[in-house]
Amino acid sequence: MPYFDAHLHLVPDDVILRAVAKNVRTFFVNATGPKDWGGVLAQSNRLLGVYPCLGVHPWFIDDITPLWENDLKKLLKENPIAMVGEIGLDGTRPDMEKQMDIFFRQLKIADEMGRAVHIHCVKAWPQMLEILGQFKGVKILMHRFSGDEVLVQKLRFFNAYFSVLNAHVLSVIPDNRVLVETDAPDGLKTPENIPDLVDQLRLQPDYLWQNLELFLDGR
Ligand SMILES: [Zn+2]
Repeated sequence: MPYFDAHLHLVPDDVILRAVAKNVRTFFVNATGPKDWGGVLAQSNRLLGVYPCLGVHPWFIDDITPLWENDLKKLLKENPIAMVGEIGLDGTRPDMEKQMDIFFRQLKIADEMGRAVHIHCVKAWPQMLEILGQFKGVKILMHRFSGDEVLVQKLRFFNAYFSVLNAHVLSVIPDNRVLVETDAPDGLKTPENIPDLVDQLRLQPDYLWQNLELFLDGR
């Protein structure tokens, strides 16, 4: 069974190709803002298995361009396999009001265009749940998830998947909602480490792959 990396950012092509040689076949490559949308799309056009995720990350809300929403819609329309990411809220960073506004707008676009979203959430769960509550139809991937059981229960009302890179949260996530990621190049691992990571986490590659197919199905 092949493997996948459910969350990473732009890395050189040879990093992806080394992972492909280890049977990692699908990569959700997330942008952080308008400045890397073109690079992410170009990589997905060059390399099989790279799914582009376009969005504005909460750390980079000051990098938006005046027409960013129009540009995002246009690029999503032109690229039917593209998803929306990395987007979200971060309570450790400034400007929560602006973060919420930009996050809301991106969820709205994802909802209208029927695309899944890749979410970053740190210390902003009340605001996150409030905004998600307005977009119950959107499929979401909570990236680098590290919440507890209570939070997972709340997120069960949404069409939520959870991608993890360490073991401590696995016991609270439903088996059919688990995905794995490296968050390269920010994480400690790169996508070629995925088979070892899956091994360490004692996950079964075949059901992980089924979860990935469910996530991609009917996006
Ligand atoms: Zn990330």
